[in-house]
Amino acid sequence: MAISVIGYAAASATSELAPYRFERRDPRGDDVVIEILYCGVCHSDLHIARNDWGGALYPVVPGHEIVGRVTALGKDVTRFKIGDAVGVGCLVDSCRDCEDCEHGQEQYCENKVFTYNSIDPKDGSLTQGGYSKTIVVSDRFVLKVPKGIDLKGAAPLLCAGITTYSPLRHWLADENDKVAIIGLGGLGHMGLKLAKAFGAEVTLFTRSPGKEEDAKRLGADHVVLSTDEKQMAAVKGKFDLIIDTVPYDHDLNPYIPALSVNGTLVLVGYLGPLGTPLNTAPLVLQRKAVGGSLIGGLPETQEMLDFCAEHGITADVEVIAMADINKAYERLLKSDVKYRFVIDMATLKA
Ligand code: NAP
Ligand code: ZN
Repeated sequence: MAISVIGYAAASATSELAPYRFERRDPRGDDVVIEILYCGVCHSDLHIARNDWGGALYPVVPGHEIVGRVTALGKDVTRFKIGDAVGVGCLVDSCRDCEDCEHGQEQYCENKVFTYNSIDPKDGSLTQGGYSKTIVVSDRFVLKVPKGIDLKGAAPLLCAGITTYSPLRHWLADENDKVAIIGLGGLGHMGLKLAKAFGAEVTLFTRSPGKEEDAKRLGADHVVLSTDEKQMAAVKGKFDLIIDTVPYDHDLNPYIPALSVNGTLVLVGYLGPLGTPLNTAPLVLQRKAVGGSLIGGLPETQEMLDFCAEHGITADVEVIAMADINKAYERLLKSDVKYRFVIDMATLKA
């Protein structure tokens, strides 16, 4: 008998999210059944609900920053017990067999299964995310939420946290490196906190005047208004790593001069063709690179959660009721959030 679950779904690219009842599978031997307590609201949820990237499968229950408690376990699960605080991020399965899976970078597996908007190859079902009361996930894709960490503030670590942690781990050589983050939103504010905790000198690039005080509180040593040519010129050649979290098409060329020789600009936000072509000359002439990065694998996500617990890092959140999700999306589009909405799932009545 499948588990009947209430959630919030978008029925099409133009409809608001509304209550939606659906079924989760009965737990298999390796499954963990989780009562969802909190779910963060990522800009990707909005991109998929509104089909910004194409390929949305409706109805879609978004949500991949999930924190909850274990309520039941398949017979083969030994890593968890009932009552444990656990997390689920953007992935709920992968092939488990390819080189990427073997190296714990399941996010690059060709056959990964996203938490929502994916077809689960094991049973052909459409996966549905964390804007719901319960989720059933194979234990390999369930994270341990370290003891003592605030659960509301931990939820955004499962996507915003790991998406900024992973490029820092991959590209930062040492604590003398200089890091910049573009965009102070959900990902950006985690980027500032994490880069600071790595010991780097941290700069925020923002298009919004007035974010300086917050940015400094969150870990930025410097703030550069990206629309001010003088401020941009003053950071020429400075950064070993720039992490770009902007969700929409934008001109990358103004940021390239700010990279040092050998520096890398890593895109984690916008997916798609650039409206303004990238000038390759400064890349070639100074061995600079432009790259990309997707979330992180399961071992790295656990490492990030443990790192955050050790350094006292959680997201700055505004807790909302499930019924306020449509208003939250409108505010997210205006960058009117400090700095992550988190849904309190107790507000969704079964
Ligand atoms: P968010 O909270 O909306 O923050 C985005 C920030 O980017 C804004 O606060 C704003 O900062 C800046 N910005 C927004 N629109 C802009 C525009 N049109 N031009 C220039 N700057 C703009 O979004 P988020 O949740 O952090 O997500 C950011 C992006 O990352 C989304 O596209 C999301 O889908 C993607 N994402 C990727 C991964 C991955 O694995 N690679 C994982 C999660 C999310 P300022 O006002 O400071 O400029
Ligand atoms: Zn996300």
